[in-house]
Amino acid sequence: MEVAMLGSGSAGNATLLRGGGVTLLVDAGLSCRQMEARLATLGVSPAEVDGILLTHEHTDHTSGLRVFCKKWPTRVFCNSQTASALPADIPRGCFHLFETGSRFALGGLMVRAFPVPHDAMDPVGFRIEEDGVAFGFLTDLGHANRLVLEAMRGIQGLLIEMNYDEELLQQDTKRPWSVKQRIASRHGHLSNAEAARALASLDAPELETLILCHLSRDCNSPRLATEAAHQVKSSRTILCATQWGGTPAVSVG
Ligand SMILES: [Zn+2]
Ligand SMILES: [Zn+2]
Repeated sequence: MEVAMLGSGSAGNATLLRGGGVTLLVDAGLSCRQMEARLATLGVSPAEVDGILLTHEHTDHTSGLRVFCKKWPTRVFCNSQTASALPADIPRGCFHLFETGSRFALGGLMVRAFPVPHDAMDPVGFRIEEDGVAFGFLTDLGHANRLVLEAMRGIQGLLIEMNYDEELLQQDTKRPWSVKQRIASRHGHLSNAEAARALASLDAPELETLILCHLSRDCNSPRLATEAAHQVKSSRTILCATQWGGTPAVSVG
């Protein structure tokens, strides 16, 4: 399996995953043009995309979906609550609904969608496996509960949200108190420290590839997020995705 983040942050998230004979996007929150450009830098044509998996309906994960699907017809995999919360002008014919908690095959990949605590309709994380190699998607969650840790057991690669540094969020003067409360709540986003605690709790001795994502531009930095991850995991590869830079493609397993 090969994974590359096209970009990540509150202005848009999208990830490329290739394996099992299929090419997938997880979320489509960058503009269609940006996704096309970033796929091109990875040597991938948008026409190759066999499907788009959606974690939840928030616009930073879905804003490029309508234009992308019109231009490059593909399948969109999400649960019914997420589908119902998306704008009506996204062609419904492209939706393939899954049940949260279920597993389904896409080519040679096995996908498991599991619930995560976040303030959306029915947000999920994904565990994607090919031939005993597993990659986890954990973005947009307020805390890593037992179910989340269980779903990540034995993974070799993980994309995990490191949204904010707790001190920088407290000191931030741009955000009203209510917004800070939402971000820091049990159904908001993971701080660097919370993500590090989740990493320390994972039963995944073979975890060798980490992609840190969804960093706040004002309340975090790649240096702080990477330091937090290094303190708990000496993974062979730790990459930090930024809003405009994404990451190179990394092989997992
Ligand atoms: Zn988000
Ligand atoms: Zn969200």
